[in-house]
Amino acid sequence: MGNRAYNFNAGPAALPMEVLQKAQEELVEFQGIGMSIMEISHRSAHYEQVHEETQQLLKELYDIPSGYQIQFLQGGASTQFAMIPMNFLKPGKVGSYVLTGAWAEKAVKEAQLFGETSIAASSEAFKFMKIPALSEIQPDPNSAYLHITSNETIEGAQFQAYPETGSLPLIADMSSDILSRQVDVSKFSLIYAGAQKNLGPSGVTVAIIKEEMLQDLPKNIPTMLRYDIHGKNNSLYNTPPVYSIYMVNLVLKWLKEQGGLAVVEKRNREKTSLIYGTIDQSGGFYRGPVDKDSRSIMNITFRLQDEELEKRFVKESEQNGFVGLKGHRSVGGLRASTYNAVPYESCKALADFMADFQRRNG
Ligand SMILES: *Cc1c(COP(=O)(O)O)cnc(C)c1O
Repeated sequence: MGNRAYNFNAGPAALPMEVLQKAQEELVEFQGIGMSIMEISHRSAHYEQVHEETQQLLKELYDIPSGYQIQFLQGGASTQFAMIPMNFLKPGKVGSYVLTGAWAEKAVKEAQLFGETSIAASSEAFKFMKIPALSEIQPDPNSAYLHITSNETIEGAQFQAYPETGSLPLIADMSSDILSRQVDVSKFSLIYAGAQKNLGPSGVTVAIIKEEMLQDLPKNIPTMLRYDIHGKNNSLYNTPPVYSIYMVNLVLKWLKEQGGLAVVEKRNREKTSLIYGTIDQSGGFYRGPVDKDSRSIMNITFRLQDEELEKRFVKESEQNGFVGLKGHRSVGGLRASTYNAVPYESCKALADFMADFQRRNG
């Protein structure tokens, strides 16, 4: 890995070394055209090929059935928090949300600006240290949709299975765990993710949307915030974030080369079990605050006995080449984000460092 850091950043986050090298190779001259991909029209054949191939790769990797569209949007996942109620929360209907942590809270708050909302289940009483049981999730009978946050990046809790909603559209924020494991996409009417955790660099938000969701949207929504406009124009209504989409293209090709999602999921579980294993075998030196049944395979949160020791852990980890292990400022503690691009070797090095730190401080 040369002088590459052990990168556990939460987002933007690690990208595969091979992807960065390929991008570097193609930066000045893309496929022999005498220009960078950033210097050509988004309506050119060369760009169009990248755009469509990226959609195709995503369909293939996620086994997306027909009847879905892949959209490339801007404004991050945070803009989706507003676009969802603007497009789908019609008067007289209710937007139902499962409250699982900081990101779910932001999604609900945005929906409250546009209409009535309801909390279908919440783990707030447990400080969001678990995902509610599927049987506890009760969407309002008058719901327009049920919104879930597949993985709470800050707390480190992740849905292990998804609710069955029948004909009620299920919408998921998968910003921090998209393509980390196999998912039955057909259960969802909309899956969205900001790219900068598990898909590529920031600047593009991927939406996987069921075509039937694009019918009869309210007339008074601004053009750029309409899923139907982006759908009709294949995400080329205006200039898309060309370079970010190109980088997502390279990441998807890399995932395919790894052997697809079954292999990637297995590796993610191996990576995280190294670190969770170290926590569980530490005799209480390290503490995983999240319920074992809800532990995330993307963001591992853990604590030490006191904040002084946590500060020392962060400082010493940095001296040893680890980056991004400080927990989110809102919850404190420590967090290792182990996205797809974080190599097994980085996780092994972290588990070893944790064991050594315990020997010296336990
Ligand atoms: C990072 C994150 C967001 C916010 O993403 P932006 O692209 O910065 O708006 C939303 N939801 C989840 C689960 C996240 O991890």
